[in-house]
Amino acid sequence: MMGRIGDDKIEEVRARADIVEIIGAQVRLRRAGRNFTGLCPFHQEKTPSFSVNPERGFFHCFGCGAGGTVFNFIMKTEGLTFPEAVRQIARRYGVEVPESGPAGGPSGSEREALYRANQAAADFFEGALWKSAAGAGARAYLEARGISTATAHAYKVGFAPGEPVWLSRALEKRGLSEAGLKLGLLKRDPAGIHDMFRARVMFPIRDVQGRVVAFGGRVLDDRMPKYLNSPESPLYSKTRTLYGLFEARQAIAARDRAILVEGYVDAIMLWQAGFKEVIAGCGTALTVEQLRMLARHTRNVLACFDGDGAGRKASLRALEIFLQAGLLGRGIFIPSGFDPDTFVREQGAESFARLADSAELLIDYFLGVQAEAAGRSIAARAQAAERVAAVLRMVTNNFEFDLLARKAAPLLGVGEELLRREARRAAPHSRGEALAARTSAPAVRARADAGARAEIGLIAIALLHPQLRAEIAAAAPEQNYADLELAQALMEVCTRTEPHEALIGWAAERLTAEQQAAIAEMAVGGFIDTREEAHRLLGDCVVALDERRRRREVESLKRSANASPTSHLKGDRAVADAQAVISLRRESQTRG
Ligand SMILES: [Zn+2]
Repeated sequence: MMGRIGDDKIEEVRARADIVEIIGAQVRLRRAGRNFTGLCPFHQEKTPSFSVNPERGFFHCFGCGAGGTVFNFIMKTEGLTFPEAVRQIARRYGVEVPESGPAGGPSGSEREALYRANQAAADFFEGALWKSAAGAGARAYLEARGISTATAHAYKVGFAPGEPVWLSRALEKRGLSEAGLKLGLLKRDPAGIHDMFRARVMFPIRDVQGRVVAFGGRVLDDRMPKYLNSPESPLYSKTRTLYGLFEARQAIAARDRAILVEGYVDAIMLWQAGFKEVIAGCGTALTVEQLRMLARHTRNVLACFDGDGAGRKASLRALEIFLQAGLLGRGIFIPSGFDPDTFVREQGAESFARLADSAELLIDYFLGVQAEAAGRSIAARAQAAERVAAVLRMVTNNFEFDLLARKAAPLLGVGEELLRREARRAAPHSRGEALAARTSAPAVRARADAGARAEIGLIAIALLHPQLRAEIAAAAPEQNYADLELAQALMEVCTRTEPHEALIGWAAERLTAEQQAAIAEMAVGGFIDTREEAHRLLGDCVVALDERRRRREVESLKRSANASPTSHLKGDRAVADAQAVISLRRESQTRG
């Protein structure tokens, strides 16, 4: 959505930002030698394993492996993309970062005017709700719905008076009429410009950084339409926005879960009842984009559905959208006759907490339905297995896939291997897959062998010790990399001359979050502080990669020697293979 930020800008922001101050705002830090330590905000712990190294500008948790630069920290805690994190920190330290909208979109100053108009409107609406006589009806409405003053303030709820040109005049005075028209706050007709929202309770919709991007307006009586929403604008796309994400983002990170509801008032009431991790759609059916955005904050998403048959059906449709976003998703089924708002009000927060804590995996319900449909007839069973395979095909995380295949096969009464094969046939390499791969950190770490550690280790050395780049390049270890993107990245670093601080933007673009965390681990752990240490590790990495290549060559020669026994290839080839195996082994013994 936002354009690339220049490396010099990123470096300027990083240099200005105090990593201890920024992380210290969320984690109580204590100095321990050259590092600061505290309790990790990314996993539960009683003794601190979270460290910040201000000198190098990295943080790292020795417990869960989280780590990176100050930008990675903000990305992780606030659920922002890299450019968003840079901009947020830049704003905090007063560094100007030019806004570059999408191609053909409005220029930076136009976008600024749009944000200003929305913010001004939100302030006017809020003022009208609390400070005007006209707001009395809206205040009574909020009270009747059980929305407290504090809650209304937290969501910046406001009121649009009934006069036709109330907001138009206010925006005109500030030179924001054009912006107001573009945002759908105002409309132009033959009689002139007038207000779009009249006599409505106003719910500002904010982006994850807290900027107002749109409004939902609800009537106080039974007029239709009940809700009027801002149209799509350069600031707002309803399929890519979640209501309440700004308000909920910290609770989502802290609880590692999000509760998804349909309406603004449902969200507000759950928040008020203590479920601060709640968000709502923006008047549309759930979209893959919304879930992908949410997946940056948590993988545990609980969606509320009606407990009746229609709600169950809706949960099956939602399952597909969840899977496409790389998430499994759970369903909270609200008993018939209630919605989340009325349920929590009439049955209490504890009852809702029980529902939420026992939310079932959407795919479990789906499997149950299919198991029932399978019945006893062979044809029905085959059809059900086909449907399950089609859904499993969308599961992009390998561990989740494994567990689900194991669970599904006996339910359907089909062979597990067959089901797996069918489900993996032509598995799409979706963006969701990449996402899932990047978010299953502990598993990836556990599987990383010495070779993989050496691959990222050399990049860490090259980044942190520019003087060693030429030596790394001369050893040409990239030919032994299994990860070709990483090999390319290593070659790139070795041709650069800047210190690592100037390559943070580059790293954010080219390396996964886990790879950046691995680099942070080496920097914070003090493994390669001195040039001597770095040099020694460089040698170890090069040897490890070389070893791995030779080990693999031996393996593959052994396999081909076994696979072509006496029959057609007999003599020559088999003998040559065997000799190659022996000589390679000898070579590795003398060198190792
Ligand atoms: Zn941790």
